[in-house]
Amino acid sequence: MNILVINCGSSSLKFQVIDTASETMLAKGLCERIGIDGSLTYENTVKKSGKITREVEIPNHKVGIQLVLNELTDPENGVISSLEEIGAVGHRVVHGGEKFAKPVIINDEVIEAIRECSDLAPLHNPANLTGIEACRSVMPGTPMVAVFDTAFHQTMPSKAYMYAIPLRYYENYKIRKYGFHGTSHDFVSSEAARVVGKPIEDLKIIVCHLGNGSSVSAVKGGKCVDTSMGLTPLAGLIMGTRSGDIDPAIVEYIAQKDNVSVSDVLRILQKESGVFGLSGGLSSDFRDLWKGEEEGNKNARLALEAFAYSVAKYIGAYAAAMNGVDVICFTAGVGENDAQVRAMIGEYLGYLGTAIDPEANKVHGELREISTKDSKVKMFVLPTNEELAIARQTLSLVEQA
Ligand code: ADP
Repeated sequence: MNILVINCGSSSLKFQVIDTASETMLAKGLCERIGIDGSLTYENTVKKSGKITREVEIPNHKVGIQLVLNELTDPENGVISSLEEIGAVGHRVVHGGEKFAKPVIINDEVIEAIRECSDLAPLHNPANLTGIEACRSVMPGTPMVAVFDTAFHQTMPSKAYMYAIPLRYYENYKIRKYGFHGTSHDFVSSEAARVVGKPIEDLKIIVCHLGNGSSVSAVKGGKCVDTSMGLTPLAGLIMGTRSGDIDPAIVEYIAQKDNVSVSDVLRILQKESGVFGLSGGLSSDFRDLWKGEEEGNKNARLALEAFAYSVAKYIGAYAAAMNGVDVICFTAGVGENDAQVRAMIGEYLGYLGTAIDPEANKVHGELREISTKDSKVKMFVLPTNEELAIARQTLSLVEQA
């Protein structure tokens, strides 16, 4: 079955078409600047004929989807001859609250429930819903599935997800840790079990999803028992521009000192912090930070060291949470590509009886075991593929229906 995977932002729409029989990507692309002016990028990934970019008016997501479908069915560069060849659509939805611990087939009730979770993700869920509504109006007969970023983490025990604030905030407003990147943590941990050739039920796995946004999760017996992001994706590790964990009292302190609002401070913590902030605004991109470091920029060095230290501390915490660890995986942009950062993290892990093999660690963006032969804990670079994970989950639900 061909599945169209959609990831909708407020002014963007990313898509891929995946043939689930061979698990290959047929096409991918992106609508950007929706509602502003508009541009569409499209690539037939089978023909490998290169990217097509069109500057076209995209007033809303419905027009965006229609334009995507036109490209997909184009006689020359398309990958399908008619819309009937798309068996289902899988939508990435950021927040499923406590309502969704699994992907679901989308119907009116599900749409309402996603809307009810919008309070928890005011930037993301409304945008995801816009994409769902647009697809429903353009492809009314095609089954659609919602796959939630938070769902995989719903297995966390309450001792891991509750914040030590008055209980009424959980009872009244559902304030708790939810965690994000769940599709990636789920995909990478199951792939890790497959690669080591053991049932996931017997394994303790730590997944380090290190990209622009970064999170770590502890997966015991195939179930998430803890993860580093929180009520929102601002918590946990130091990230590209997000602060990760800080003393919450800092918010009021900055607000007073700079005479700005709480929202202003949160924007600073989201957009101007992380390795970007620590490097004195040099960059949120690790390639730029290494370049800076090579040129003697001390703040770039500090940002890289602090990032690696924050990952290493979470690995330690999650090894404790699971009373051991069998496999540690590195994934996403930094985790898959930055050998130096992986090596820096590896330096903290000797107490686990594990070490990174410098030769194996040279790998970029492909599956490889990077720990030494006698290492007690196996370490892998294991590329994530959230679109494929969404396509697999969509297929499985549509087949059951
Ligand atoms: P997102 O959270 O946006 O999905 P990605 O997982 O794509 O992020 O990660 C993007 C980040 O990966 C970039 O900002 C950059 O810091 C890092 N990155 C990508 N390629 C490399 C590379 N070759 N070496 C080091 N870092 C890289």
